[in-house]
Amino acid sequence: MKTELLIIGAGAAGIAAATAAWDAGCRDIVLADRRERPGGILPQCLHEGFGHAQYGRELTGPEYAQQIAQKLNQTGVRLVLGTEVLAVYGNKSAVLSDRSGLTQLHFERLILASGCREKSIGSLPVVGTRPAGIFTAGQAQEMINLHGQDLGKEILILGSGDLGFIMARQFAQSGKHVIALVEKEAHYGGMARNYHRCVEPYKIPILYHTTVAEIHGSGRITGVTLRHLDGGGEEEIPCDTLITALGLLPERDLVRGLGEPEWLFFAGNCHRVHDLVDSAVSEAERIGRAAAE
Ligand SMILES: Cc1cc2nc3c(=O)[nH]c(=O)nc-3n(C[C@H](O)[C@H](O)[C@H](O)COP(=O)(O)OP(=O)(O)OC[C@H]3O[C@@H](n4cnc5c(N)ncnc54)[C@H](O)[C@@H]3O)c2cc1C
Repeated sequence: MKTELLIIGAGAAGIAAATAAWDAGCRDIVLADRRERPGGILPQCLHEGFGHAQYGRELTGPEYAQQIAQKLNQTGVRLVLGTEVLAVYGNKSAVLSDRSGLTQLHFERLILASGCREKSIGSLPVVGTRPAGIFTAGQAQEMINLHGQDLGKEILILGSGDLGFIMARQFAQSGKHVIALVEKEAHYGGMARNYHRCVEPYKIPILYHTTVAEIHGSGRITGVTLRHLDGGGEEEIPCDTLITALGLLPERDLVRGLGEPEWLFFAGNCHRVHDLVDSAVSEAERIGRAAAE
């Protein structure tokens, strides 16, 4: 099989790049995503705060996804869902896997729009067991918002970036006890607007200069040891759920080792992590036009 332009990832960036490439005259585009629906992480972000620059008002993640999907639907881009790209080779070919098996696809240009992955608890020097009840913020968001699961009652959040803030508010709004956000620095990591919307109104404490040193529990987490990095010693805090919001890493494994060939482009969070979707989209539109030209 052949295509002019292959785009890996149908999140906000991949959709925007595909639409812009089509509008710039490219008429043979395959947009592949391993998930069964387009939009990437947007459908799980039920809070408002998306699209202020692009649409002049604040949308939820699903509403934003719908807006960009509508534009995509007006093009002839071939959207293939439930399709994982397993490998990309220097001879401009990729191996795609779906329910019918493996396909080799040859392309002229490739846009990688594969998003980012979350750092897990394993990225920190935390001792102790790894029982149930420890989730990254994105996993927790997906399990609650898309699968209706109830994760726990006594919640501790490690990391005070935007993801940590948004999950803190969601737990507080659903009647859970958010014990604290734990932050090793002297200031929170998220945007001030999210602090004022998500943390302040719910009086959720942020423990600065503090980290999780040890995890307790065998079947299920029962608590953690907090270490106060400013010389304040250690204390044990009981909890049944630990959410890690430790930051995001661009997901570029597929093209590692390929160097910088002129046919390869990056868009969205796999290029650099965008706090705002509007920024990911406007950059991806530029990349889509460049790839088409
Ligand atoms: C919890 C959270 C809250 C946010 N809140 C806001 C907010 O309030 N306001 C705002 O403006 N922005 C917000 N953002 C930021 C914004 O949502 C992101 O910057 C943007 O959606 C990233 O889009 P993307 O397309 O780069 O990545 P993603 O949405 O992650 O899409 C990447 C896609 O690539 C697919 N993929 C990856 N590898 C492969 C492969 N090998 N084969 C096939 N498919 C693959 C994945 O399945 C995924 O669908 C938030 C982000 C998060 C995580």
